[in-house]
Amino acid sequence: MKKRMNCKVAIIGAGPAGLACAAELISLGQRDIILIDKGPNLFARQCPALRKGQCTQCRICSLYSGVGGASGLLGGKLCHFPAGSRILDHVGLTSEVANHKVDSFLSHIQGSFSPPRSYELLAPDLTRLTKEATLKQYLSIPLLSTDMHTIFKSMVTFLTLNGVTLLSDTNVIDLENKGGNAEFTLKLAINGSTETLDVYESLVIATGRSGESWLMKLLSPTIVAPTYDFVDVGVRIEVPNNAAEGILPLLQDPKFKIRPGQPDEVRTLCWCRGGEITQGMVNGKMLIDGHFGSVFTKNTSVSIVSRVSANTKFSAFDKAIDHFSSKQSIPIVENLHRFLGLNHSKLHAIIEPKLKYDECHFRKIMDVGLYAKIAEMLFELNDISNGDLLKSNFGSVYGPVIDKFWPTPVLSGELESQIKNLYIAGDATGLGRGIIQSIFSGLYAATSIYCKNSKFYINRDGLIRDSARRVA
Ligand SMILES: Cc1cc2nc3c(=O)[nH]c(=O)nc-3n(C[C@H](O)[C@H](O)[C@H](O)COP(=O)(O)OP(=O)(O)OC[C@H]3O[C@@H](n4cnc5c(N)ncnc54)[C@H](O)[C@@H]3O)c2cc1C
Repeated sequence: MKKRMNCKVAIIGAGPAGLACAAELISLGQRDIILIDKGPNLFARQCPALRKGQCTQCRICSLYSGVGGASGLLGGKLCHFPAGSRILDHVGLTSEVANHKVDSFLSHIQGSFSPPRSYELLAPDLTRLTKEATLKQYLSIPLLSTDMHTIFKSMVTFLTLNGVTLLSDTNVIDLENKGGNAEFTLKLAINGSTETLDVYESLVIATGRSGESWLMKLLSPTIVAPTYDFVDVGVRIEVPNNAAEGILPLLQDPKFKIRPGQPDEVRTLCWCRGGEITQGMVNGKMLIDGHFGSVFTKNTSVSIVSRVSANTKFSAFDKAIDHFSSKQSIPIVENLHRFLGLNHSKLHAIIEPKLKYDECHFRKIMDVGLYAKIAEMLFELNDISNGDLLKSNFGSVYGPVIDKFWPTPVLSGELESQIKNLYIAGDATGLGRGIIQSIFSGLYAATSIYCKNSKFYINRDGLIRDSARRVA
């Protein structure tokens, strides 16, 4: 039987942005909120690949979807600003204000939360390392490896205790705002049946990476094409922790780059200490990523990427990913090995057989010079680890890792879209990637909704102020 539900505020996507947005709305006194996610609830999420050793291509990938979002299943690192600070430029707040907002929120939710306060303490170690290795620091330092599951559990408990309805395994397939009594009407697919949700006040879309194509279809007239056409392509390597001893004890999440200032510069993207490399499906495409497993491995996965300008080839790139994610071969890794000067037997020793990718048009897109630069970066890091990083039979090289920069919807400084009362938060804004950035934008969207429905505004310190006393 078709059911009809209603609420004042609906949030689509229960990742860090959606959860934070709902919790902040509650703290600001909003009631009658429904939070919806197409994936399973936090406690039911599991990736069969962790048991079976390979991706089984689930219809909805638990690595990316479900309560907790793309980072809810496994561990994660909280990377504070200034990494991904475009969201801050957009809303006009400083990183200090934003970090403070996130830290206070997490402390409120968790009872206690102590992020590293003296970020600059890391700087001397970093300087020493970069001097030794002639690598340049990449602006993304302050970090904290943490158990994200515990943080998300606290958020879910907070929401449940405060009467928020959490609908997991519920896919929002469409939305309408044609007027009538409700501001928006959502069409939901739950357990094979279709239900309708009327939203009377505001809607927040926080659908992250896995909701990208859905959101693009929905908002296509109001999406701005990316002003820069970049893709990140590269490799992941996995080595035992002790092979990166020169780096890891000093820096929780080392970030380096070579040749700064060039558009196709090479840099490290992600270090996943004790993690493992996994495959996941995003919008039907098989991509690889680094994850902390339920059982921590003795390995450290490092991703090294090169930012490539895709320009007019952007749609060709999409096609290439489609093609490449469906067949079996390993061209990037092979090319990389050629540049590393490794002989054939070593190549077999360090390529992990479980993850294989196809030949595709990919060669055409990733310029051959980039292999050399990625290799150069590997050698630099290898030097820091006293040669252990690339020791034969010591680790695995996987490839390619790919990240595309997303289109940015037209958003006001309050994160409201061109559709009135429809807000966008998290990765879906196209203005940032990362847990902290997403939590921040979720909090910010909640505050905007509160201010719009009252006589308040957000000042430059991120504080809610009375509009009647606003200084021009
Ligand atoms: C493997 C991996 C490791 C990462 N590690 C880190 C890390 O260590 N540190 C860090 O800062 N960042 C990390 N990130 C990035 C971080 O996870 C994301 O930036 C963050 O989760 C984005 O939060 P979000 O709430 O915007 O979106 P998401 O976390 O992607 O959540 C969006 C949610 O929306 C749901 N959804 C999408 N479409 C619909 C729909 N139509 N109907 C209903 N629900 C829908 C999805 O199921 C999903 O649960 C990692 C990402 C990945 C993939």
